[in-house]
Amino acid sequence: MKRSTVNILASYIDALHPIIYINHFDFKVIDDAISRVGEKAKCVEFNNALGLVDFKTKSPMMECNLEQFLKLTMDDGFEQETFLVLKDVHGELNNPKIISLLKRIAENNLYNDSYSATIFVLSEITVISRELENYITVFDIPLPTTSEIHSIISDFIIDMDIIVEQEIINDITLSFKGLNEFQIRQILNLAYQDGGCIDKDDKLLILKEKEQFIKKSGMLEIVNFTENIEDIGGLENLKEWLARKAKVFANLDKAIKFGVDVPKGIMIIGMPGCGKSLTAKATASLFEIPLVRLDVGRLLGKYVGESEENMRKALKLSEAISPCVLWIDEIEKAFAGVGSDGGGNDVTTRLFGQFLTWIQEKENTVFIVATANDISRMPPEFLRKGRFDELFFVDLPNGEERRKILDIHLKKRKKWHKDIDSIALIKETDGFNGADLEAVVKDTIEMAFIDGKDVITTEDLLKSVKDTKSISSTLKEKIKEIKSTIDKIDIKLASKADIH
Ligand code: ATP
Repeated sequence: MKRSTVNILASYIDALHPIIYINHFDFKVIDDAISRVGEKAKCVEFNNALGLVDFKTKSPMMECNLEQFLKLTMDDGFEQETFLVLKDVHGELNNPKIISLLKRIAENNLYNDSYSATIFVLSEITVISRELENYITVFDIPLPTTSEIHSIISDFIIDMDIIVEQEIINDITLSFKGLNEFQIRQILNLAYQDGGCIDKDDKLLILKEKEQFIKKSGMLEIVNFTENIEDIGGLENLKEWLARKAKVFANLDKAIKFGVDVPKGIMIIGMPGCGKSLTAKATASLFEIPLVRLDVGRLLGKYVGESEENMRKALKLSEAISPCVLWIDEIEKAFAGVGSDGGGNDVTTRLFGQFLTWIQEKENTVFIVATANDISRMPPEFLRKGRFDELFFVDLPNGEERRKILDIHLKKRKKWHKDIDSIALIKETDGFNGADLEAVVKDTIEMAFIDGKDVITTEDLLKSVKDTKSISSTLKEKIKEIKSTIDKIDIKLASKADIH
């Protein structure tokens, strides 16, 4: 535990913050911090399973429930400075009796000069009832900064008595961003046990382990991908725009000094299967930063305030991992019906507000890529300029784009050759989206394989085209709907005009 963390905790106690909510999984670390802050205080601990336990030895003293514990200890603060350490009690924090008892202790602490008791709530789940909101201070253990990570690694190297090149230390320092001290040490141990040293190869191990930790947190998902900007056929305006932002990102320090704003993000709206997800991946590859996906549905929790807390944590985690691309797929579903009668509820409305404020105020290097199909039910605040740097509409590919998409997928499978008649294919594929065209290529190649052919012909492709039901025929109404909502907003076209 960093000295500064202990100091912040001490300053909260001095300033009479009556209930300090610590959201952390490693209670041992927190116990150490509490004992350092409260050297002279009497520390009493409640364990959800064991009742009253000795804070130092952790041995059970008396079986009781939280209500009994609080009644038993609430007046200790009149005798000497007392710390009440409550562990894993989140399930009780909406119980009216518990709320009243906690309130009583908090009020005594604030208004009675002869009383001093601070409550510490330690839990991985944050539950804050409305009645206690004003008394609770959520204390976040900040994730280590780059220089702190550097010193954790250096300390580890000294402890293990190994020699590691400075360049490697610098390199792995960045890979550790977004993890806490405990996790960093665990991974270092693993890397050390693997080969008795720490070297360049361990970077891969770190990334894999980091992925695991982030996955386990359930908040964000690191997306692995191989696609890059050359894999997108068409969408030239969008690609040019991204290339410009990539230049800013690559020279961020200089750009900021020059007066350029840090890129915030982009919203890509449009037809299904036309390359929106592909663009999210290609953006991360172009910017040379990791891609992390935020699934808003997964943030919803069952306790009051839990979803908001999860959202806060997820956004914080993305900042800790930054620079990164934060991808929110199907954002219209995540925030469906917010602020209208379209089925949104209080929690989604609050999450939405929280997210908007974060985007509006953010000055970090998290670049948001939000993708959506249908925006008819999206709250208009979301689409207002200033939230995102730009809004792009991805339409069904025009002729030239269809040619490029077919070429990309044929080349990927090494089946492209110059005799393929692109004009004939363009003519027959009007209304196809990128996914349809990819399916045409896949089917044609599979058929060629089954028929024992080495080379595929335009006729083979045209046959698959005929057998493919394009999106325009299967989702006719939906496409019309998407187009009509797009006409009403100020949005840029992702594609350049067709040359055919
Ligand atoms: P949805 O709205 O259904 O999520 P999407 O717009 O995100 O669709 P993608 O997942 O990007 O669509 O595209 C589906 C597949 O179609 C991609 O994996 C890709 O192979 C192909 N594809 C779509 N558009 C293009 C394109 N412009 N260039 C090359 N391939 C494309």
